[in-house]
Amino acid sequence: MTATVLVLNCGSSSIKYQLIDAGETTLLAKGIAERIGEPSSRVKHEIGDQVDERDADLADHAAALDDIVTAFQAAGERLTERGLVAVGHRIVHGGDRFTEPVTVDDDVERAIAELAPLAPLHNPPGLTALRLARQALPDVPHVAVFDTAFHHTLPPAASTYALDRELAARYHVRRYGFHGTSVSYVSREAARLLELDPEDANLIVLHLGNGASVTAVRGGRSVDTSMGLTPLEGLVMGTRAGDIDPGVLTYLHREAGFSVADLDELLNRRSGMLGLAGANDMREVHRRAREGDETARLAREVYCHRIRHYVGAYLAVLGHAHAIVFTAGVGENDTWVRSHSLAGMRRLGVEVDHVRNSFATSRSHVISPDEADVTVMVVPTNEELEIARQATALVCAG
Ligand code: ADP
Repeated sequence: MTATVLVLNCGSSSIKYQLIDAGETTLLAKGIAERIGEPSSRVKHEIGDQVDERDADLADHAAALDDIVTAFQAAGERLTERGLVAVGHRIVHGGDRFTEPVTVDDDVERAIAELAPLAPLHNPPGLTALRLARQALPDVPHVAVFDTAFHHTLPPAASTYALDRELAARYHVRRYGFHGTSVSYVSREAARLLELDPEDANLIVLHLGNGASVTAVRGGRSVDTSMGLTPLEGLVMGTRAGDIDPGVLTYLHREAGFSVADLDELLNRRSGMLGLAGANDMREVHRRAREGDETARLAREVYCHRIRHYVGAYLAVLGHAHAIVFTAGVGENDTWVRSHSLAGMRRLGVEVDHVRNSFATSRSHVISPDEADVTVMVVPTNEELEIARQATALVCAG
């Protein structure tokens, strides 16, 4: 069965898209418009066998979406006549309200707008793309898929911060978790490879991209996760600090005069690997470390130490894990991070086989020895395919 879905993933200065046949699992087109609103915007469209890559003048997201629709026309594909079953939108924060994908109408659009204070950096761009795409493609159902949704199964013990209960309730302060679309895809894929029913699989999923998180999955459901109210908590990331003593913030406010905006900027854009090593791309950190840069060496030790800390914690949360699964840019490619972050855990049943770990492939593969109690594996994520599948399932069910 064919079921063509346009998936839009909109950031503050970029729109990524894929046209996917969710029935046949084929990628029909993909592209990106980036540096939107800057003097030198760039677009890349790969539609059928045509590749169109150029500078563009994209003043705002509306101009970027227009460029995408026009690119399809230029390639002889009118999106309006494509028989799309849905447009799937990645929305970062669903708050308490959205625990599963939803077909967008004006009420839903308003509710997503109301969630902006919970994710001021992430939700507004998604909402912008949603509004524009609903205008450009008014006859197709638009489905919002939320990064937080997969984690709605977190038990209260894992999702509750030990704060004043009434204050937390009034301001919806709790742990929501993110990267749920990726974790959902990767867990199902890992269970399939382990030949386990997803309902029986206990997994620790390490999504290590620019943003990074770890999730404990029991029987296909998220039971603990490292990101919280916002995507700032947990692991060390490209430019985000992950866990720090909240006292650091009040201290910097008092002693260094940091305002709320300064703290936002520090924690979101100037910390993590960038803050520690001067580079947010792990490949560059390794290059510097190899050349003897001690700050880069320390940065990657801190990065791996934090992963080890969470893996240990989630082995305890789950009682037993069938597998530890690495995914996303760092997780899928970085043999050094994979072996160092799980080093010294043999007594816990966790071991990485160095030959298997260095095997370069873009496919899912096991990197632990056969006899290990816990399988360690690499599973490439595919958030766009997961969004397309969830959107198709919702539209076809209705
Ligand atoms: P995003 O979180 O933006 O979706 P990705 O999952 O694509 O990002 O991850 C991007 C990051 O992955 C890069 O910033 C870089 O640190 C890392 N990365 C990509 N390729 C490699 C590689 N071959 N080796 C190590 N790290 C890599």
